[in-house]
Amino acid sequence: MASNPSEGLIGKRVDILDKGWIELVDILPNPSTGISADLAIVNAARVSFMGESKGPENDKKLLFYLLREKHTSPFEMCVFKFRLHAPLVMLWQLVRHRTASLNLSSGRYVEFKEDEFYVPDVWRKQSPSNKQASLGEVEFEAGEALTQKLIQHYEAGYRLYEEALQQGVAREQARLFLSGFSVYYSCIMKVDAHNLMHFLKLRMAEDAQYEIRVYAKAIYEHFFKPLLPWTAEAFEKFVLTEKA
Ligand SMILES: Cc1cc2nc3c(=O)[nH]c(=O)nc-3n(C[C@H](O)[C@H](O)[C@H](O)COP(=O)(O)OP(=O)(O)OC[C@H]3O[C@@H](n4cnc5c(N)ncnc54)[C@H](O)[C@@H]3O)c2cc1C
Repeated sequence: MASNPSEGLIGKRVDILDKGWIELVDILPNPSTGISADLAIVNAARVSFMGESKGPENDKKLLFYLLREKHTSPFEMCVFKFRLHAPLVMLWQLVRHRTASLNLSSGRYVEFKEDEFYVPDVWRKQSPSNKQASLGEVEFEAGEALTQKLIQHYEAGYRLYEEALQQGVAREQARLFLSGFSVYYSCIMKVDAHNLMHFLKLRMAEDAQYEIRVYAKAIYEHFFKPLLPWTAEAFEKFVLTEKA
């Protein structure tokens, strides 16, 4: 039976940013089949019975061929389900990836907690050349002062949120007092390996916003690479090097 790198990774959680995390909830192929995710992709391309293999050398060669030639549908046979905890500034961008299935927690159902706001480590400066991007950091003392002001701003907003709730205002409206982009939400994301590679290429790139880039990199390093070592190798060779 082929060794299965997915064993032990389900349930693994990685901390990200100040209060965020990502956890692998489930994967297809199920580890109990004993089929590695790379092999499941190869087997799908061969439209064969689970577990049938022509030996690691031939299997890996076929997988590289598939990705190089953009025969991507076999990669959709491998599916990841993650649970994420991330500030809205990140989720705002994540939801644009329509090929992922997402379920988000709702501030209409549950009250936000006071300590669930993103406080960045550093303040990045506006890039002079790229209108969307940041470049370099605000100097330490000025940054510290801004951070204190941000925390005070969160506290003041949260007091108003509580006040509105106490006056009987609905949670869906009381949240208008909160600092929208900073609040942490929980979310479940299901995505197949083909579309995850597309997401990773876009969001691990240096021009992606730091707050989503760290999640993309964590997905890649802690989950994608260990689960799909051959696919990761082919991804770095054929996809990451390709101009968008
Ligand atoms: C650096 C960066 C900056 C960005 N800036 C902005 C911005 O300023 N404003 C903004 O609105 N967005 C912005 N985006 C989001 C971007 O436009 C995409 O919405 C996002 O990256 C998702 O990519 P996607 O559509 O390829 O992925 P998915 O939605 O996962 O789709 C994957 C692929 O499926 C196909 N597909 C999916 N849905 C359709 C459809 N309806 N019709 C045809 N084909 C489809 C396409 O081939 C697509 O590439 C930015 C993204 C990045 C990485």
